[in-house]
Amino acid sequence: MMGKCKLCCEEKELCKQSHIIPNFMYKDLFDEKNRMYAIQSEEGGIKQKGIRQTGEFEANILCKGCDNGTLGKLERYASLILYDGYPKIIEHRKSPDGMTYTYCAELDYAKFKLFLLSLLWRASISSRPQFKEVHLGPHEERIRRMLFGGNPGEQLEYPCLIMTYLNREDYPSDLVTQPSQSKVDGGYIYKFLIGGMIYIFFVSKNIIQERLTDVVINPKGELKILHMPPEMAKKALSNMLGIVWS
Ligand SMILES: [Zn+2]
Repeated sequence: MMGKCKLCCEEKELCKQSHIIPNFMYKDLFDEKNRMYAIQSEEGGIKQKGIRQTGEFEANILCKGCDNGTLGKLERYASLILYDGYPKIIEHRKSPDGMTYTYCAELDYAKFKLFLLSLLWRASISSRPQFKEVHLGPHEERIRRMLFGGNPGEQLEYPCLIMTYLNREDYPSDLVTQPSQSKVDGGYIYKFLIGGMIYIFFVSKNIIQERLTDVVINPKGELKILHMPPEMAKKALSNMLGIVWS
């Protein structure tokens, strides 16, 4: 079908399937029949385990050039980094306060940052119920321009903090939850839990703290992925899944 692509804003032939969360992020989440187990929240706070055939996708939102070209390029790069252990320097370290983290270096700042922003942006433009809490308002157009223009912005412009509990083998690594919006100090943050990684996007400028500078990807290509201490992981999972974990 012809229509207006949401990324380039041109009248083009639109894709029948554009992934909102790229398929590669569901790696290891498929069972032997290639079905993905996902957790979805429902009204009234009851959650259930659902089975989906593939990752979330939507029709008629992006043209082929934007889907496969512009965003596809970012996805292919992020896939190498997140799932194929590509970074040249990657070490597990401990910070003075006892927090352990994975240190990544020599990343392509523009590609990785824009990939993260593309997740947030796609969730915002999506009309799928799974993404109903993600509304970027005026930030949606700003991020669209950054994506379309290949401009990753400054380090603390829409920073994304990445945490993981994959270091804990007793925690489920096969969950994808509905992204959630929270209000913190009068500003908005969005949390995505995808396969054992929690991506926290800080959208409102007034809540972006200087101390994120040390952690989120910087223009030199350094990034710290924080390992969540057990109690924190438990709390975060309980919150995001809406369950009480004993
Ligand atoms: Zn397009």
